[in-house]
Amino acid sequence: MSELKIAIQKSGRLNENSRRLLEECGIKFSNGSGVLKTKAVNFPVEILFLRDDDIPQYVEQQVADIGILGENMVFEKSKDVSVIEKLGFAQCRLSLAIPKEENYPGPEYFNGKKVATSYPKLLSEYFEKNGIKAEIEEISGSVEIAPGIGLADAVCDIVSSGSTLMTNGLREVTSILKSQAVIIGNKKLSGDKKKILEKLLFRIRAVKSAGENKYILLNAPESAIPEICRILPGMKSPTILPLAEKGWFSLHSVVREDEFWERINQLKSAGAEGILVIPIEKMIL
Ligand code: ATP
Ligand code: MG
Repeated sequence: MSELKIAIQKSGRLNENSRRLLEECGIKFSNGSGVLKTKAVNFPVEILFLRDDDIPQYVEQQVADIGILGENMVFEKSKDVSVIEKLGFAQCRLSLAIPKEENYPGPEYFNGKKVATSYPKLLSEYFEKNGIKAEIEEISGSVEIAPGIGLADAVCDIVSSGSTLMTNGLREVTSILKSQAVIIGNKKLSGDKKKILEKLLFRIRAVKSAGENKYILLNAPESAIPEICRILPGMKSPTILPLAEKGWFSLHSVVREDEFWERINQLKSAGAEGILVIPIEKMIL
């Protein structure tokens, strides 16, 4: 049976999360640095380590069958590939930023300006849509220093917290794209490869659901149980076990972490005590 070839970033911001995702799916492979490809020992996949810029093209040409990379790069390269699954990590945005002391009246600010970016396609589409005539200076890295060294008036770059922009005296003025890591795939995978991909996706979804959910245990007096069950948005109904102390019970349930934080005060005022929140490793829905 053939192997599914998975392209991940060789080094950089996506590398660690991509490796971890595969490892959490139970896929074991050697981590030697400087290696360009490696076969997993316990799952029919081969992992290729590439620059993220090259992944869309390699997946289109089936050098790799699937790849893990940011949506920003997928849209910028606009190769003929399908987006199979959003992965939730590497959340960021592609934004325009200008020297912080400048006034920003709106997109028209960029008329006649020179903007440095590694995303010429997405940026020119944005300018076109907004009727802006600006010059695009394509550079491959360290875009944020371009205004400081007189290479451009403004930048269009990936931002998450904005601290890199700030350090370079820049201010984010508008965001043109939101992005997160995704899996892309070649559109003509063989039946064998599709089967491996299905197995892998099953595992990835289990890992993803586990990350978003927590196992919660709490103690409560019998009288508080109906109210607590109403508050807890569990998978199904919670497990209720009697404690050694008469009239007291332990409730177990699975809740989304974000919902849990919203409901913690309600749970406490309903009478919940000794609340424990435990990570889940895999969750099969
Ligand atoms: P390569 O050498 O592979 O070309 P690179 O330098 O182009 O790497 P990185 O900076 O490692 O790219 O970023 C890879 C991807 O990670 C980006 O395309 C984007 O999707 C995401 N990313 C970049 N910066 C951030 C950030 N600050 N926060 C979250 N995600 C980010
Ligand atoms: Mg790159």
